[in-house]
Amino acid sequence: MGAGRGRQNVIYLDIGDGIGAGLILGGQVLRGHNGTAGELGHTVILEDGPLCRCGNRGCLEAIAGGPAILERLEPIAGAMKLGDIVVRAMAGDGASIRALSDAGKHIGLATGNLCNLIDPERIVVGGDLARAGELLLGPIRLAMENSVIVDVASAPDVVQGQLGVSAAAIGAAVHAIDQVNVQSAAV
Ligand SMILES: [Zn+2]
Repeated sequence: MGAGRGRQNVIYLDIGDGIGAGLILGGQVLRGHNGTAGELGHTVILEDGPLCRCGNRGCLEAIAGGPAILERLEPIAGAMKLGDIVVRAMAGDGASIRALSDAGKHIGLATGNLCNLIDPERIVVGGDLARAGELLLGPIRLAMENSVIVDVASAPDVVQGQLGVSAAAIGAAVHAIDQVNVQSAAV
């Protein structure tokens, strides 16, 4: 219903406190055996990196997730919320722009690996930090394009989500309607 509309192979990235991905393959949501498909935030990108809340080390989320970014900025900018980083970055604050850029670079690397696995046509970026627009999307795009095996012209485009804070609620509602339709069809 948003920026992935009409496309069959899409990655949706939710970037905020956590980092998660929604995978649409062949027009269907990929849930996986345990319903955990798309846990991109727990892709290990630094073998001996910081501890993650999942118990592993060096997960993408432990390096580029909201709490990690806030912790890195705190000595410079004091206690902030994620929305503050976006506001500051868009106002030209160098440290906030750099923090988003670093996070985007790591997210783009992990996303490039994911692209090599599932070959999507579009990456839609949502979540609290996506409001920073190209300050986040640009570094994601660059790192992704550097790590995909297809040439840049064939790499997926990286666009901002269109549904904002309503994205998850709309997805849940559509899922519920789909289930009712499936059950109705079975009767
Ligand atoms: Zn983890």
